[in-house]
Amino acid sequence: MSEVERHSYDVVVIGAGGAGLRAAIEAREHGMRVAIVCKSLFGKAHTVMAEGGIAAAMGNVNSGDNWKVHFRDTMRGGKFLNNWRMAELHAQEAPQRVWELETYGALFDRTKDGRISQRNFGGHEYPRLAHVGDRTGLELIRTLQQKIVSLQQEDFAESGDYEARLKVFAECTVTELLKDGDKVSGAFGYWRESGRFVLFETPAVVLATGGIGKSFKVTSNSWEYTGDGHALAMRAGAALINMEFVQFHPTGMVWPPSVKGILVTESVRGDGGVLRNSEGKRFMFDYVPEVFKDKYAKTEAEGDRWYTDPDNNLRPPELLPRDEVARAINSEVKAGRGSPHGGVFLDVSSRLPAEEIIRRLPSMHHQFKELADVDITAEPMEVGPTCHYVMGGVQVDPDSGQSRVPGLFAAGEVSGGMHGSNRLGGNSLSDLLVFGKRAGAGAASYVEGLGAARPAVLQSDVDSAAEAALTPFTAAAVDGPVENPYTLHTELQQVMNDLVGIIRKGEEMELALKKLDDLRRRAAHAGVEGHRQFNPGWHLALDLANMLLVSECVARAALERTESRGGHTRDDFPVMDSDWRHTTLVCTVDGPGVAVARETPSDMRDDLLALFEIGELRKYYTEAELTGHPGGQE
Ligand code: FAD
Repeated sequence: MSEVERHSYDVVVIGAGGAGLRAAIEAREHGMRVAIVCKSLFGKAHTVMAEGGIAAAMGNVNSGDNWKVHFRDTMRGGKFLNNWRMAELHAQEAPQRVWELETYGALFDRTKDGRISQRNFGGHEYPRLAHVGDRTGLELIRTLQQKIVSLQQEDFAESGDYEARLKVFAECTVTELLKDGDKVSGAFGYWRESGRFVLFETPAVVLATGGIGKSFKVTSNSWEYTGDGHALAMRAGAALINMEFVQFHPTGMVWPPSVKGILVTESVRGDGGVLRNSEGKRFMFDYVPEVFKDKYAKTEAEGDRWYTDPDNNLRPPELLPRDEVARAINSEVKAGRGSPHGGVFLDVSSRLPAEEIIRRLPSMHHQFKELADVDITAEPMEVGPTCHYVMGGVQVDPDSGQSRVPGLFAAGEVSGGMHGSNRLGGNSLSDLLVFGKRAGAGAASYVEGLGAARPAVLQSDVDSAAEAALTPFTAAAVDGPVENPYTLHTELQQVMNDLVGIIRKGEEMELALKKLDDLRRRAAHAGVEGHRQFNPGWHLALDLANMLLVSECVARAALERTESRGGHTRDDFPVMDSDWRHTTLVCTVDGPGVAVARETPSDMRDDLLALFEIGELRKYYTEAELTGHPGGQE
């Protein structure tokens, strides 16, 4: 029996990005004792990398903006597959969450008359992204951490202990959730530095573990994004939805090879940057899909006028939703009109004065100068699609964030539904704040409802979790050759990139599933040498099981959905099919693999449906679904 350090909390939040911190603050403010557990350093979550801004319909730059317009844009961006209740709550509550951040100490860039400034982004009808240069995520995390410190100071004043009700466990990875019957009872993990085991006894867990991008070869995501929360939830009995929808951001760096995939923020296009192919053509005008034809400029002159006179001109097609732009770039490169290193050109140098570029996009200027020796104030960048975000995640109740497992909550990128088939830029940071707060409140009220009858952790479950975590050290003793976790990870990334990537085909995904099955068998023999003290090979061997489970969800759901929509493009089924709009694919654990079932989502409330023109809805809905619309009888 392994030695295990034990802690007991009311609520354990796994993940210290925007969603986790906001959930922890909320649960603590409801009087809970809260632990925040994160596998990287505190402050080094994905959220900190967010550049462009937080989408919130404050109407500061264009008074025409309001939550209804934001709701409409979000639904359009997600091609009407979004959980409409989540999209509604998100659009309504995002402005309050941004203002609240300033009460915690954030300071956003200002308009000339002193209001929070808002910038343009793809798919948003009005300038909507509150920002701090191109370092918005850093400010968001800094202020949420500051709020946590201020709450800890309150606790110190009351109890003499800063960590009496809010404690951070950094560089601590959770490997398993524990249950008592059907209810959550705890979380098991290890300290990354010492390798020692740790157990959190708790009736409520909020998953806020972020995305899955490290399963793909070219990605903007960093090392932590191995789909741990997605896999933990599934193994605990929760379901994942929309896993076929993976967002490939149109603009990642393509050169030099060591930095391929690093993000080039959409703000470059929002602030006037244009995309050109090797012939110098602004090709996006050739790629405006039918459903967006009446919303985007038809000529370069009109698109350019929009930046100064948005009320009387249509926006340029460089600002189409990300899925459209990524596919267009992919097509240009495939047609032989790409840049020297296999991307296209993104030019802001001929559009804005140098000092303005440095003021608005300081990180981009620095990033290209340092990493590619390119001065973006004088020459174009080379960019191409990179795996960026997963729309799919844990199926939750929109209002409380609770999954189908009592006591298990999820918020942020690990949860599913909010963004439908494609997320709009800026809608993640707002999602983290809106649903982080809701999940923290949901967890607190669940714990209050339990009273004294708390679920118990079984020692046998702790022993099994410890044994499972140690398997990579005993792989040599098991039948079959010992496999190197790094080799397996590289192979997995190649499979996902080549066979389940930006453009998909049925036979390629079937091949991917065979390869994933083979990789899963081999991963059971993933072995490491040495000790438990900081051993990255061991950590990766454990993360691999999560990546393989989640990758299978992506491949199975993508094979099942025989249409193209948002972040799921099928070469063999290139058209969006209205009959698929009202189908949600739901992944659950089935033996060692994954089962995919179909569910019909609830119908959008009539008052929300009435926010759209019937003509627009007909592009997405079947006639039978539109009978509740005021124009439905036309
Ligand atoms: P994260 O911030 O990803 O945090 C996850 C946390 O979970 C981390 O603390 C991690 O250590 C922890 N964790 C993971 N697994 C475990 C485990 N097993 N045990 C313990 N802890 C674990 N969105 C926008 O809206 N606007 C933008 O401008 C924007 N820019 C972006 C720029 C870049 C380069 C990238 C990569 C993304 C950007 N996004 C943007 C997307 C957005 O940043 C992310 O979707 C969002 O930050 C995710 O937040 P989160 O709280 O869900 O998780």
